[in-house]
Amino acid sequence: MIRIIGLTGLAMLAFAANSVLARQALGAAQLDAAGFTAIRLLAGAVTLGLLVGLSRAASWRQIASLGSAQQAAALFGYALAFSLAYVLLGAGMGALVLFVSVQFGMIARGLIAGDRPGALEWLGLVVALGAFVYLISPGLSAPDPLGTLLMVVSGLCWAAYSLLGRGSTRPLTDAAGSFVRCVPFALILLIFGLVWQLPSPLGVALAIASGAITSGLGYAIWYAVLPQLTRTRAAVVQLSVPVIAAAIAVPVLGEAVTPRLLIASIIILGGIAIAIQGPGAAVSCDRLARFAIEQYHHAMPHPPMTPMNRALALAEEAAANGEAPVGAVVMEGETVLAAERNRMKALNDPTAHAELLAMRAALAKRGTGRLDGCDLYVTLEPCAMCAGAIAHSRVRRVYFAAEDTKAGAVENGVRLFEQPSCHHAPEIIGGIGAARSEAMLKAFFQDLRRG
Ligand code: ZN
Repeated sequence: MIRIIGLTGLAMLAFAANSVLARQALGAAQLDAAGFTAIRLLAGAVTLGLLVGLSRAASWRQIASLGSAQQAAALFGYALAFSLAYVLLGAGMGALVLFVSVQFGMIARGLIAGDRPGALEWLGLVVALGAFVYLISPGLSAPDPLGTLLMVVSGLCWAAYSLLGRGSTRPLTDAAGSFVRCVPFALILLIFGLVWQLPSPLGVALAIASGAITSGLGYAIWYAVLPQLTRTRAAVVQLSVPVIAAAIAVPVLGEAVTPRLLIASIIILGGIAIAIQGPGAAVSCDRLARFAIEQYHHAMPHPPMTPMNRALALAEEAAANGEAPVGAVVMEGETVLAAERNRMKALNDPTAHAELLAMRAALAKRGTGRLDGCDLYVTLEPCAMCAGAIAHSRVRRVYFAAEDTKAGAVENGVRLFEQPSCHHAPEIIGGIGAARSEAMLKAFFQDLRRG
């Protein structure tokens, strides 16, 4: 537990330090924004390339061809706008504007994709947006308008980078690939930067630290600790980044905290906290957290895609037999204890859900009344009945693919594992293989309606 808190704190500190390093270098004109961006991207490419190569997540030759051109473009846009903004903005103000822009970019994409936040979430969002408008509105202590605009662009680029990577099968190595793909553009930028202004040694050191430590290693730590956090906790913890940035910037950079920044920060962060804690919880950094969890699991030596692929194949088999396409696999370490699919129709049994059948078979095979230490892979978010059975059988971890907004009881509906009456809550990892499961369910119910 202390290790988790420590690593989470370290990751947040790294993200906040990114802003402080950039401001320290650019605010004091130790080097220009082009040079800082170039050196940061190069240092990040070397660090992430080494991490991926040494961990054998991909071969050395592969690294430059990983990721996509769009993701690399979004990363480049984020990094360049970020540096340009920090010529004009303080570290505390910049970190807050960046954070808010990323969140609103994600939320906007979610709304377009059909997310429907609840009343409480809307309230949180409206309050946060109102306070943000107050923060940047003209006045005595208003932030530089061009700097603010550049930071909003940077935040939107980062949101795009995260969303573009969501459907990827190997996102962690893709992140390294995106940095490496930026290298030629970073070199061009570096030449421009050198012509413009010769950087000071301190400026170069700050840019390298920003790329190698607070970007490269910061992400690695964050991905390592994320699977230990619930999605909501992961989202809430990120609210601390602008606060930490401001807390460092005051003594280190001598920045003043204006009443406007203080009041707006409290209201914005409070509003976003309400929005992501809301009953629907379909918004914002939730998505970022889920994406990062997927990244981590894809980079594992035995990625959970293998059992999940088996469960997806069973779901396909269910559909071929006229059953709703859901499959489930119970694993004990590397061993498959049971693999089942929906059989409600075949057995004339409304309780014959895939995961319930799989858990029963696994218990029979083990000859015990418990599944402690076992993991359940299921292609659809479990319903209230199955969630109850999961708690009773003391399953260690539940991986599920698609969310079920209608009948799900884990991250939707009654959220059984979060109830005080629930005596055992497994670790939950959602979204693994979600796209394939969603497509199957959609096709099945479309066919059903057509008759
Ligand atoms: Zn069920």
